[in-house]
Amino acid sequence: MSASPFQFYRTFVPMLRGLNDPVVLSFDNTTFAKAYASDPTIHPHHFIHSGNFFSSPYSKNPELRTKERVLLLQEQLVNDQTDGLMTLNVPVNGDFKTPYWKHAKADRLKALETSLEAALWAKKNAQRPDLLYAGFEVGTFRDARYIFERALNAGLTKLSAGFGLFSRLAKFRSEDRVKQFEVLAAYNQLLSEFGDVRFHASGGSSLNALELLAYANVTSADGSSAVIAGLAYGSVLTASGRLVRADKLGEWTCNCEFCSSKNPLDVLNELKRSPEARVRHNVHMVRLSEARINDALENNTIAELTQQRLVEYDKQELWRCYAIVSEKLPQE
Ligand SMILES: [Zn+2]
Repeated sequence: MSASPFQFYRTFVPMLRGLNDPVVLSFDNTTFAKAYASDPTIHPHHFIHSGNFFSSPYSKNPELRTKERVLLLQEQLVNDQTDGLMTLNVPVNGDFKTPYWKHAKADRLKALETSLEAALWAKKNAQRPDLLYAGFEVGTFRDARYIFERALNAGLTKLSAGFGLFSRLAKFRSEDRVKQFEVLAAYNQLLSEFGDVRFHASGGSSLNALELLAYANVTSADGSSAVIAGLAYGSVLTASGRLVRADKLGEWTCNCEFCSSKNPLDVLNELKRSPEARVRHNVHMVRLSEARINDALENNTIAELTQQRLVEYDKQELWRCYAIVSEKLPQE
């Protein structure tokens, strides 16, 4: 089991020695996954994905991503730090330029049914069925309500959905986020009926959505923003949740574990110069958010914390998502 009520896993993982923060592993036997599985000095909590269907080699060779092969290889990576295995999540089709909610209903449901079949097959055949998270690619409130209810009725108690796929297209970015929280609203409706359920939100977990996810009763999430921001965009996360380019910084004070152990001027120069320093700082900022979130969950103040953070983030779209999970539920 994961260590805390809300757990964040880092995806797009460069090896960061000594950090040992929770990570996502791909099911496939990559060098990286092997290192995590075999090097006793690297022993983080981890969540094992069923693979990015949109990237090669799986988009070119679908036979590399079958429910049987996914489970077989996932099980080779299981150790005492494994928190979950995501079952095969099937996309509507190979067209990743059209968001799921714009496809015909019959096509959407066919993909969801195939995912459910894969999850039920895994439940029957897995050595550790307790680790399974039934994976879905779902983009509307009604579809989510329908398929989650079927999964829960079939005895699957851990669900997972892939999010954020269409946020890479600027014209769908905002709607994609809203749809994500409509899906979570459907999950929340079912929670009162089914009780002890866990939910992993895969992808789409930009750093300023973490409180919202916890508020929506998501128990774990993964995302690459902390890493991508530090590596590709040269950015560091500030205490108010904004990403700022390190080379634009004039001064820097930060209480995170990475920065506070050094002289402020040295830290500033290191953040400007070193991608790894930026990633380490960003990962520590995510950890601080996660600690605040878990504290709020324990004290039943997650709604207050979420509101407070949304005021800081100052994004209309996030308030809309907050309203959606606060039971101002969509009709369609
Ligand atoms: Zn810092």
